[in-house]
Amino acid sequence: MEIGELARGILAGERRALARAITLVESGRADHRRAATDLIARLNAANHGRQALRIGLSGTPGVGKSTFIEAFGLMLTGQGKRVGVLAVDPSSARSGGSILGDKTRMEQLSRDRNAFIRPSPAGAHLGGVARRTREATLLMEAAGFDAVLVETVGVGQSETVVSEMTDIFVLLLAPAGGDELQGVKRGIMEMADLILVNKADGDLRAAATRTCADYAGALRLLRRRPQDPDGFPKAMTVSAVEETGLAAVWDEMTALAAWRRETGHFDRRRAEQACHWFEAEVREGLLARLRREPVRGAMAALGKDVAAGEVTASEAAEAILRDYLGVSGD
Ligand code: GDP
Repeated sequence: MEIGELARGILAGERRALARAITLVESGRADHRRAATDLIARLNAANHGRQALRIGLSGTPGVGKSTFIEAFGLMLTGQGKRVGVLAVDPSSARSGGSILGDKTRMEQLSRDRNAFIRPSPAGAHLGGVARRTREATLLMEAAGFDAVLVETVGVGQSETVVSEMTDIFVLLLAPAGGDELQGVKRGIMEMADLILVNKADGDLRAAATRTCADYAGALRLLRRRPQDPDGFPKAMTVSAVEETGLAAVWDEMTALAAWRRETGHFDRRRAEQACHWFEAEVREGLLARLRREPVRGAMAALGKDVAAGEVTASEAAEAILRDYLGVSGD
């Protein structure tokens, strides 16, 4: 399909066009990459003015992310909203096997015409997954989606990546047995706009309420963000299984987004994020060129000279950067 046609299909909200476009942005082939860049630029130039609420969701395996996203997503599609679900799964980057790519997850939501679920691509490095997820978000936005949920497993770097591409960051937790704060790292707490203690039902309800109070206390101790209204970041209890608290979560998200829009913070943050990704792409692009010919071969050849002591490591590095990447040290 020609790129102009693909762009028109996406702007018309066609699922097939969206699916094809996401496949295109996921591809590592150089011609596909050029086509994807062209497509995103065209959609941007179409100036459609559509904005989805981009929501990051993090939590360790077993806290109920897929159950929550399915219930939350179905609530939104039930209101006529269109919902996208993407994943940044660092495990797939490591092993090629994806936890978040499991096809049996979110079965009901995946059949919903107003939802579009895309698992994390296997085998890509975190930088690659990040780009594809960010671009898929832009595609969904152009296609008129109201919300895009970007899910990640709670292991270090991936939360930062997700928070750099979303408007609101949600941390999903399970009720704690004791009174410990489940070893949640301070940095991750500081990223969160909402902490949701899931499984607040049946025998776990009391523990969930207690855990929620503990986190509410811990959040009060964090520096207040001048861009946010009183009470944020906020801790709440939910039950993904009993579908309780979900409407309240959406209300808090939209209230926070509305406040940030009014104060200008929303757009400012998106502008900062765009700059962040611009710089990240430059770095990624440079590294990718190093891995390709002719630089790779030249480095291998020059490496031998360095090993033989004929040129110094610094001289050789300077020569590669100057001759092959056109960047000079001064
Ligand atoms: P994920 O690994 O974070 O995606 O977690 P899952 O959604 O697969 O859920 C892990 C387990 O927790 C499953 O057995 C779910 O049925 C259970 N679970 C998820 N949400 C709830 C909830 O709200 N209440 C209770 N009691 N169990 C839940």
